[in-house]
Amino acid sequence: MIIIYTGNGKGKTSAALGTMLRTAGYLKKTCIIQFIKDGSQYGEHHAVKHFLKDFVDMYQEGIGFYKLPGDRHDESDHRQAAAEALELAEKKMRSGHYELLILDEILTALMVRLISEDQILALIHSLPADLHLILTGRGATQALIDAADLVTEMQEIKHPFQRNEKAVEGIDY
Ligand code: ATP
Ligand code: MG
Repeated sequence: MIIIYTGNGKGKTSAALGTMLRTAGYLKKTCIIQFIKDGSQYGEHHAVKHFLKDFVDMYQEGIGFYKLPGDRHDESDHRQAAAEALELAEKKMRSGHYELLILDEILTALMVRLISEDQILALIHSLPADLHLILTGRGATQALIDAADLVTEMQEIKHPFQRNEKAVEGIDY
C-alpha cells in the first residue's frame, strides 16, 4: 500500500503514528524518517524510546523549519539535509528490515522545493512489494496522488490555533 496523508487540517502525522502502532501490534517493524525536523523530542519519540524500540526505528532528519522565523541555516544546508533524508529512506527501503516505512513531512519538503516530485516518484517506483509506504505533509501533487493507493486529505474545520491557543502536550506534540 502506498498511502498519502495530506491537507491543511491536523492529523497527518497522528494518522501515520497510529498505523505504526497497529503494525507494531503484529510484531512488525516500522521505520519513520522525519523530514524538516529539528531534533525536538515529542511524545512519539519518548513512546518509541520507552515502549516500542524493538519495533520502531525513528530518525529525525533535517535541520528544522525552512525559511520560517528562527531559521538560521543557509538554503544549501537545508537542501543537503533533505538529500540525506532521502538517501536514508532509499537505504531503509532496500534493507528488507521493515513492513512499514513512514516518510513524515516529505510532502512539506516537496512543497518548499527541497526535494523534487521526480525523486519521490522514483522512490515509489522502487518500493518492494512487501513494504507499505506512508507519505505525509501538505503539498501532495497530482502525480503522487495518481501513484498512491490511498489518499486522505485532512480538512480543517476548526482548530484551537485559530483562537491563538497553545499546542497541547500529548495532543499536538
Ligand atoms: P499532527 O502531528 O498533530 O497529526 P499534522 O501532521 O497534521 O498534525 P503538521 O502540519 O505536521 O500537521 O503540523 C504539526 C503541528 O501543527 C501539530 O502541533 C498540529 O497540532 C499543528 N497543526 C496541524 N494542523 C494545524 C492547523 N490547521 N492550524 C494550526 N496548527 C495546526
Ligand atoms: Mg505532521
